[in-house]
Amino acid sequence: MRADRLLLGVFFALLLVLPAVLPPFYVTLLNYIGLYAMVALGLVLLTGVGGLTSFGQAAFVGLGAYTTAFLTTATDLPGWIAWASNSPWIALVIGLVITASVALILGALTLKLSGHFLPLGTIAWGISLYYLFGTMESLGGHTGISGVPAVSLFGWTLKDGGQIYYLIWAFLLIAMLTTHNLLDSREGRAIRALKGGRIMAEAMGVNTSRARTVIFLLAALQACAAGWLYAHMQRFVNPTPFGVNLGIEYLFMAVIGGAGYIWGALVGATLITVLKQWLQDFLPQLLGSSGNFEVIVFGVLMVFVLHYARDGLWPIFKRFVPIRAPQKKIDANAADLPRRELPKAGEPILVAKDVTRKFGGLVANNNMSLEVHAGEILALIGPNGAGKSTMFNQVSGVDTPTSGEVLFLGKSVAGRDSREIARMGMSRTFQHVKLLPTMTVLENVAIGAHLRGNKGVLSAAWRMDRAEEARILKEAARQIERVGLQDLMYEEAGSLALGQQRILEIARALCADPCLLLLDEPAAGLRLKEKQALSELLRKLRAEGMATLIVEHDMDFVMNLVDRIVVMEFGQKIAEGLPDEIQKNPAVLEAYLGGVD
Ligand code: ADP
Ligand code: MG
Repeated sequence: MRADRLLLGVFFALLLVLPAVLPPFYVTLLNYIGLYAMVALGLVLLTGVGGLTSFGQAAFVGLGAYTTAFLTTATDLPGWIAWASNSPWIALVIGLVITASVALILGALTLKLSGHFLPLGTIAWGISLYYLFGTMESLGGHTGISGVPAVSLFGWTLKDGGQIYYLIWAFLLIAMLTTHNLLDSREGRAIRALKGGRIMAEAMGVNTSRARTVIFLLAALQACAAGWLYAHMQRFVNPTPFGVNLGIEYLFMAVIGGAGYIWGALVGATLITVLKQWLQDFLPQLLGSSGNFEVIVFGVLMVFVLHYARDGLWPIFKRFVPIRAPQKKIDANAADLPRRELPKAGEPILVAKDVTRKFGGLVANNNMSLEVHAGEILALIGPNGAGKSTMFNQVSGVDTPTSGEVLFLGKSVAGRDSREIARMGMSRTFQHVKLLPTMTVLENVAIGAHLRGNKGVLSAAWRMDRAEEARILKEAARQIERVGLQDLMYEEAGSLALGQQRILEIARALCADPCLLLLDEPAAGLRLKEKQALSELLRKLRAEGMATLIVEHDMDFVMNLVDRIVVMEFGQKIAEGLPDEIQKNPAVLEAYLGGVD
């Protein structure tokens, strides 16, 4: 048996027997660890993976706890809602619905905030909900609600800590499993692209604001479920555990345990809970007075972790135990993804007409026209500052011309976002390589196929997306072989040389099944051998019918490769023609040799 399976088996066996052998005090501690880990797990998804910091998760725990406490203790609910009283399970569903609604509203208001405004926003609603719990008289004010009943399951009433223990840990393990499944899927790759790859992800057709909303919602729902369990474990609720203090502590747990890792949530929750318990007993004795001294220790601990173990304790722990993710298998029998029909050779694919782009007084593109035909490589060249990148942005729909128009397959590009343009069949690479360095080459390339699948978050969480996933991975592997990177398929993308990373980006673009490739300075920074490999690849793609527009500064690189060249200087077209003609054109020679290149 594999060592990691064995470890997991031991872990499950321990979980199963612990309540029978431990004194109740420790079982209670384990219950808290399970509850906290569930909230921290939401933060792993939200903060560690998605890059969105929230201090407000405790408020969602409160929503879950208060909803069930209120509904299960109410004696005189009005008739229309009377069906919802006295059943913890119905209260759980209602709590989840309320939390989802609140999270959607708060998400719509705060997720657009950038930088430190988002965390500040989460603190703001964290405080508001906390005071709401404390001041609403129907929720018992600051004394709270007592007499919350125990949960029953299949006729079995979970009255004491040793019984609800199993429910808490079952919830946590299911949450860990579904989160793990989700991250290892098409939607999961989109979520993992949020941190550091949003522009790239949008260009691959990922709706990144939707992905942000999804993880925000999932984190809130997990916190709500933890709150529901908490209320039925404690059998009473008051506002104290749902304030921003706890919100900060949950974030502590995730960061210290390892915010980028599912197991990090459990490690962090265990460490903080045990340490807090121990410090609360020990520090007042040591210092001879009472107070929340553990907070100071946590602060120092946090500074240490941020200095010496940015990624938290889990990755360090992992070095000492033999745990590794199994290599993804490519299923050669998976059905091929449907392919687009390429336009016939020679047909115009991309037409830019009199494109002018002004930045204030500066005319970066002046009456630029160009055409790319199916099956050819067109180069747009010019010295630095000529306006090539600006033209690239007009063509790819990242920017809108001041006047003039760009037609792709006969349709105007103006007013469409990157996603729509990707869907139409235009796929691009970036002048400064944009990939997800800790993901494998295979996973990076698979992001390119995002628009060719449609299985959502729920299918992914419950592994109902495997047939589609196999098709996507097979396609990614096919493109990796097409560009010649098959030996590096399972390497981390960040460990590749620059030339290989550029080629990876081309494979990712190809994975979208485009009819036009846009490459922004693909040869920049490459060594001679790498340039040759790139040329060879682009020739091969042309032979297979791909149309390519290369924006390039390096004249030598394009001369022997492309079919036609458009030359720009000072925002204008100064020449257009075959490579041989361009090479002899006096205006071009002047621009390149005479310019301050
Ligand atoms: P190239 O890619 O050929 O080196 P660019 O398209 O990046 O040239 O730049 C052309 C000119 O437009 C430069 O003078 C540059 O400073 C200016 N420019 C580009 N983008 C902007 C912008 N967003 N705002 C103002 N000026 C810009
Ligand atoms: Mg440029």
